[in-house]
Amino acid sequence: MSAQAEDSVWKKYGFLFHTYISGEKGRVVPGLLFGAAAAALGGAGLPAIVETVLPIVFGGEPLPEPLAGWVRDRFSPEEIPSAAMWAAAVLIPLVIMVRGGAAFLNSYLLAKAGLRILEKLRLRLFERLQELPLAFHERHKRGELLNQVLGNTSLLQGNMIAILNDLVIQPLTLLSAFGYLLYTALRHSEAAMLLVNLAVTGACIPVIKRVGSRMVRKTRRIVDSYADMTSVVEENLTAQRDIRSLNLEEMQVELLRARVREYIAHSLRLSFWSQALAPAIEVISACALAFSLYMGCRGGLSLEQFAAIAMAFYYCYTPIKTLGGVQNLIRVTGAVYEKMEEVLEAPDETPEPARPVPLVRARGEVSFRRVSFSYLPGVPVLREVSLEVPAGQIVALVGPSGSGKTTFINLICRFYDAREGSVCLDGVDVRCLSRADRARAVGLVSQFPVLFRGSVADNIRVGRPGASDAEVREAARLACADEFIDSSPGGAARLIADGGEGLSGGQRQRISIARAFLKNAPVLILDEATASLDMNSEAQIQRSLESLARRRTTFIVAHRFSAIRMAQRILVFDRGRIVGDGSHDELYASSPLYRGLFDRQAAGAGKGGAA
Ligand code: ADP
Repeated sequence: MSAQAEDSVWKKYGFLFHTYISGEKGRVVPGLLFGAAAAALGGAGLPAIVETVLPIVFGGEPLPEPLAGWVRDRFSPEEIPSAAMWAAAVLIPLVIMVRGGAAFLNSYLLAKAGLRILEKLRLRLFERLQELPLAFHERHKRGELLNQVLGNTSLLQGNMIAILNDLVIQPLTLLSAFGYLLYTALRHSEAAMLLVNLAVTGACIPVIKRVGSRMVRKTRRIVDSYADMTSVVEENLTAQRDIRSLNLEEMQVELLRARVREYIAHSLRLSFWSQALAPAIEVISACALAFSLYMGCRGGLSLEQFAAIAMAFYYCYTPIKTLGGVQNLIRVTGAVYEKMEEVLEAPDETPEPARPVPLVRARGEVSFRRVSFSYLPGVPVLREVSLEVPAGQIVALVGPSGSGKTTFINLICRFYDAREGSVCLDGVDVRCLSRADRARAVGLVSQFPVLFRGSVADNIRVGRPGASDAEVREAARLACADEFIDSSPGGAARLIADGGEGLSGGQRQRISIARAFLKNAPVLILDEATASLDMNSEAQIQRSLESLARRRTTFIVAHRFSAIRMAQRILVFDRGRIVGDGSHDELYASSPLYRGLFDRQAAGAGKGGAA
């Protein structure tokens, strides 16, 4: 990993902490203070207690004051030696208990802060996904985004807490243990111990660094292969019908098997490197301890002094070992966050205007002024399209597949922004309208309406959240959805299974039309609204759509001419341009393209094909 890339990972991590931890001061600061207390009690408190207690218990030395006075006041002279032994011995669990309590409060408070940070991070990502344009969603695999919101945020939260915890406890434990060693070395002129300690610390660093950079590279691959795995599963679950009809089950399992193997291979490598770290440092530490033992004996240290020093050594090495891991964890966390930034920092290609033009109730005039658009650079999809549609007009868009009809609709909804020219609603460029005003002005009924979790009534109410039950009922009636709703068990309260399973295409479409009635937007888009229905259902739904289109500016995209009968005006699209604009009769007489499309379909209908 280059120094620059490494530097950026650390910076990401710093930013992450600064942004998300600062709001949690109320838990983080006391948590860290308890951590500091636990560290001092472990690193210096315990060795000091051992050095004090062992000579009293084994060597019969007097208790220190005020403990000695306390024992004298309560025990007879014969009982004093054994009481002193007990009083001294009890000091060890006492210190450990206080240290344990502080460590618990430290972990608990930080875990609480961590969970709150997770909530913020997850919602921030999800919010961002709602704001980002459709183009962003089309560029990214769904599984990858799913993993960002659910998997990576959990990973980050877990890591951030572990890091924060260790960043306080471990260095302080190291400092206090090291301080104790320094103090002992000064008292006993055993500076050699200290030197050994320093040398070992130095020896650990290159090992840790090497393992760390290997781990970051591995983690990036793990994050990617996890996203691949999620994508396969997600794609599979959403396409069960096609998979069964195309007999792709085995192929799907093989696909997932390959991804799972890839993931396991990367994870095993990460596991190898992370697990190799601890034994490597332990071996180094054991060598240092053996050397210290030899030096200590030669320097004339007593057993209790040596025991205390060994304990302080232990408290030095544990932080070194853990801090090695923390350093790696910081890199890993930075790398995961770097991935997350692809969502958080993605440029918004359809940004909200800084000062939106208010549009309380649009009349529904739509105009295109020399609009050109391309999804990919150099591949124009709409070329200099200009058009005025007065409020209330019903307009159909016809033309060969790929001629730009859906793109035209996408620009009205502002799913994308025109590269050149402007799309206006009531004379206001859609880029100057707030998201809410724009959404309120334009209703959409598409080929495959999405039904959300909840009841049938909830699904209609998404058209206008807050609508009363009576309004929802009225919308269902206008969409001719009331009949099937009333006759089904549970009625409007019936819960819709995942994605609307159990409802026919026509029923789903009726719910979506009821939604549009409730929304009552002045501009309506019918995007292949009846394309997936059989002729019978189409004829029924067509009537509901006609009543929905009344008094609204309506754009109909449909391959079947039967679906555009209600249109007052027809636009003929060809390779990104409008090459015909008029009524059916005018276009039939003047546009060879239109006549060709119409005749081909009429001939197909005559032979029993689609009309
Ligand atoms: P129609 O609705 O008339 O069939 P579209 O507007 O969907 O046509 O597509 C017009 C052209 O733009 C086609 O060539 C299509 O391949 C291309 N296109 C559509 N959507 C995208 C996209 N998201 N990214 C890149 N190209 C696209």
